[in-house]
Amino acid sequence: MTDSSRPDNGRTDGPAPATSLTVRIDRERLWSNLMALKEIGGYDDAATGLRGVRRLALTDEDAEARGLVVEWMREAGLAVRVDRIGNVYGRREGTAPNLPCVLMGSHIDTVATGGAFDGTLGVLGAIEVVRALDAAGIRTRRAVEVGFFTEEEGVRFGTDMLGSAVTAGRIPLDHAHALTDAAGATVADELVRIGYHGPEPEIRPVPHAYIECHIEQGPILADAGVDIGIVTGVQAISWQRLTLDGAAAHAGTTPIDARHDAGLAAAEVVVEIRRMCESGEFGRLRGTVGNLTLDPAQTNVVPSRAVLTVDQRNPDDTLMTAAEKHLADFVATVGTRHGVTATWERMAKTNVVPFDTGVQDVIAAAADRLGHPYVKAVSGAGHDAQEIAATCPTAMVFVAGEHAGISHTPREYSRPDACGNGVDVLAEAILTLAERL
Ligand SMILES: [Zn+2]
Repeated sequence: MTDSSRPDNGRTDGPAPATSLTVRIDRERLWSNLMALKEIGGYDDAATGLRGVRRLALTDEDAEARGLVVEWMREAGLAVRVDRIGNVYGRREGTAPNLPCVLMGSHIDTVATGGAFDGTLGVLGAIEVVRALDAAGIRTRRAVEVGFFTEEEGVRFGTDMLGSAVTAGRIPLDHAHALTDAAGATVADELVRIGYHGPEPEIRPVPHAYIECHIEQGPILADAGVDIGIVTGVQAISWQRLTLDGAAAHAGTTPIDARHDAGLAAAEVVVEIRRMCESGEFGRLRGTVGNLTLDPAQTNVVPSRAVLTVDQRNPDDTLMTAAEKHLADFVATVGTRHGVTATWERMAKTNVVPFDTGVQDVIAAAADRLGHPYVKAVSGAGHDAQEIAATCPTAMVFVAGEHAGISHTPREYSRPDACGNGVDVLAEAILTLAERL
């Protein structure tokens, strides 16, 4: 989609961009801080030969990174507070302290094989926005806050967007506190251990608006040849586990037409999901079977059981529902044909989260003023913004990544000028929302 691209913005024969009215962030400091933070939890990745980041939520590495980011927040003059799920907020007061603040942020935890940009760009970028406002001597009517949310990745405790879901009221605090990692440690214990079981209520004062700047983690921006994306929403996600039960039998003596082969039924399901995606019948459906196990898993035994996960994504809720129904009907037919019973288990389901069009318009106007072309895009990945969107008008700024936006690997990389452009747009949009004085 290139509906709002303005590749001619930088031309000098039209009205000049109002550069004198804009605020620009310190790109060198943003970059050097991104590179410094990357070293906390840094490791040498054997698969890529690159330096990666492993900074799972509430580990010692996360604690050290939190300490550094809080130090940077304080250096930027922010008043820092921590809530009961470990979300951290830094506040720059406005001239009207009773008005709801404008919030920006993201997360600083990573996956086990992460890169330097996922989440951190939005947090360190937000701190740079505050520093740019200070450097320009700008006061705002509304307070401006920088936030980072606990356990966005969900790698350690199994629930992604945890801190933002708790502050949005979707996940109760007690439930979140009781979640455990693989070793049995609870979120609550780990928050206490690293010193981030804060005193602030997890349900925070409702912001006026929230903007999250984040790397795209996909190829849409690169394909369009732009650094900036304005995110219109997050697509629906459906995770299901399907168990197919047939009957084990001798591989050599059991006639083909007398088998109840659970593995064969599973294979048909995998192929059908791919066909559904290619058919166009279900819009821009993406379906993946990422985990498939067979029992008894022996060379000479027809499998009696297959367990597979089905991950479906769709930017349209109605088409998602249609895809789920079609697949359920297909599985029932396959089961009847092969004498295999099917059991579905729901693992996760989120509907499409549309972002606020007003905030999108503010971001678009900011990009226009700065002369940065952009495209509008739906996010394929989940983000804290989809949780915060339940509480206040929300949208996101995407920044393009190299290598088709590959992420969750040490190959993740966004150019310094792409990062700088994205955070400049963030700054300009935040300034609009907070109302310059
Ligand atoms: Zn992220």
